[in-house]
Amino acid sequence: MSLSEIQSQITKAEQDHTRAIGSTHLIAVSKVQPNERVQEVLEQGHRLFGENRVQEAAGKWPMFKEQFPDASVHLIGPLQTNKARQAFDLFDAIHTLDRPKLAQTCARLAQELGKCPDLFIQVNTGKEPQKAGILPEETDEFVQQAMALDLPITGLMCIPPVDEEPALHFALLSKLAKRNGLKDLSMGMSGDFEKAISFGATHVRVGSAIFGARAYELT
Ligand SMILES: *Cc1c(COP(=O)(O)O)cnc(C)c1O
Repeated sequence: MSLSEIQSQITKAEQDHTRAIGSTHLIAVSKVQPNERVQEVLEQGHRLFGENRVQEAAGKWPMFKEQFPDASVHLIGPLQTNKARQAFDLFDAIHTLDRPKLAQTCARLAQELGKCPDLFIQVNTGKEPQKAGILPEETDEFVQQAMALDLPITGLMCIPPVDEEPALHFALLSKLAKRNGLKDLSMGMSGDFEKAISFGATHVRVGSAIFGARAYELT
């Protein structure tokens, strides 16, 4: 599918679910894609991208940003504390704040550097042991802790279990965000972004539907 087809599907989903037109940000997930494909999507005018790994983003985005200074890149994959400084340099938003230690590191960096990317708290809505994220029942407290550290928490993010109906997870994330007064919801991928929009997604993360299948999967 092309970028413009995805964009019209997003607009249609916004219309169908009485969402404001243009209220959903499309994050084009460019992880693992060849630079030529990313370049094409930039040349089509798209400016918001998502990457899974700090290292991979460091290898391409400084170069792309020279050519397209208004491009922004969001980190949607796990962040190790020892890469946080580099992440502050590279990313305009981080969707994967998922533990107190990382929150403390971000707070320290924010103070030292005088800036901080927008932060989303990742919630493990499916309570999967192998998956990162704050448990749903611990989310309110973690939001409070992060706010107390003066971190710019703008929203919540989730990756529903692959074998479950995502609607329940989208509904839960939306409820948690509302209850905590957070405006942004990062949820929905290639297979379910329209459903996510119906539950209030403000940021959908779409990779393969824009770029085609990835040559290999990150684990
Ligand atoms: C890869 C990835 C996506 C995009 O997945 P697609 O199914 O290719 O759209 C979205 N979110 C996260 C966290 C990812 O790692």
